Amino acid sequence: MEHHKVIIVGGGPAGLTLAWEMQKRGARDVVVLEREAEAGGIPRHCGHMGFGFFTSKSRLTGPQFARRLREATEQLDIRTQTTVLEFTLRGNLRVHGASGITEMSAGKIVLATGTRESSRAARLVGGNKLPGVMNTGELQQRVYLRGEKPFQRPVIVGSEWVSFSSLLTCRHAGIRPVAMLAEAKALDAPAYFALGARWVFGVPVLRETALLAIHGKGRVEAVEVSENGKPRSLACDGVILSGRFRSEAALYAGGFLERDGWAPRVNEKFETSRPGVFAVGNVLGHLETAGNCMKRARELAGILAP
Ligand SMILES: Cc1cc2nc3c(=O)[nH]c(=O)nc-3n(C[C@H](O)[C@H](O)[C@H](O)COP(=O)(O)OP(=O)(O)OC[C@H]3O[C@@H](n4cnc5c(N)ncnc54)[C@H](O)[C@@H]3O)c2cc1C
Repeated sequence: MEHHKVIIVGGGPAGLTLAWEMQKRGARDVVVLEREAEAGGIPRHCGHMGFGFFTSKSRLTGPQFARRLREATEQLDIRTQTTVLEFTLRGNLRVHGASGITEMSAGKIVLATGTRESSRAARLVGGNKLPGVMNTGELQQRVYLRGEKPFQRPVIVGSEWVSFSSLLTCRHAGIRPVAMLAEAKALDAPAYFALGARWVFGVPVLRETALLAIHGKGRVEAVEVSENGKPRSLACDGVILSGRFRSEAALYAGGFLERDGWAPRVNEKFETSRPGVFAVGNVLGHLETAGNCMKRARELAGILAP
């Protein structure tokens, strides 16, 4: 079995910053395991500006920011296309990579696996199972990484920052959303974002509106919503389910780690309920900015490699 001093699971801004800072502090034998073909995490497919201001005083798109992170860490041991499947009973990692399924152990393991938007199933949306229903993350990957235009006139469900960022993704691809659906009267994002959606993007924000079901034959044709308690149908050809982030708990299911909601519970030193297992970045349950995740990763580097 392969053994290392430190294994970091996840090569997004938090995981890469931690590995980099530890290296700078003289730590050796630090390995990053990353599921995707390329490290960089979510910013890889956030084609809009908004990254790097607090870290390097520059205004970067997500892919530019992710590239900078990769360039800064290219000398480190970062293993892409390597997915951690679970913790074994002994606290090792079961890993799927180029040589199939193997087990790896480490003196310290850090979870930096980020967070993900809630799926349709988790939101209990009824109706037909159809293509053209996706989270913001999938939309971004299809638009920015694969150059696709998955629909023309979708509805956007949610009123978080990320919901509004999907307007930018849609504009990039020439997609014109029909409406944004905000569940409450107040938005989760700042109130003036609704004005921007309306006047800059031509997209109305419908408040106190919940998605009940998705209908169509072979493709999305309409959504059924409840608006101020009254049923209403909106014609559309796609649905973007945005936000409601939660940690991916599959890795530490079955009571391996104590949790706060979906996220692993940590103390002030980022250590979970298992000694030697740490967590940092968005895996802790909130969608923070990349800069904040990197700040926390630097703090953890100071703890692991003082
Ligand atoms: C749509 C959207 C827009 C955003 N816009 C901005 C913005 O403009 N500015 C800003 O500062 N922030 C923005 N953010 C937030 C920013 O992207 C995150 O704060 C940041 O990416 C979090 O870093 P992280 O390393 O914690 O997680 P992530 O970036 O999610 O990285 C986690 C990594 O772990 C890997 N991973 C997960 N599970 C496993 C596993 N089992 N095995 C191996 N690898 C695994 C993933 O592949 C991923 O690469 C945005 C987020 C979203 C979703």
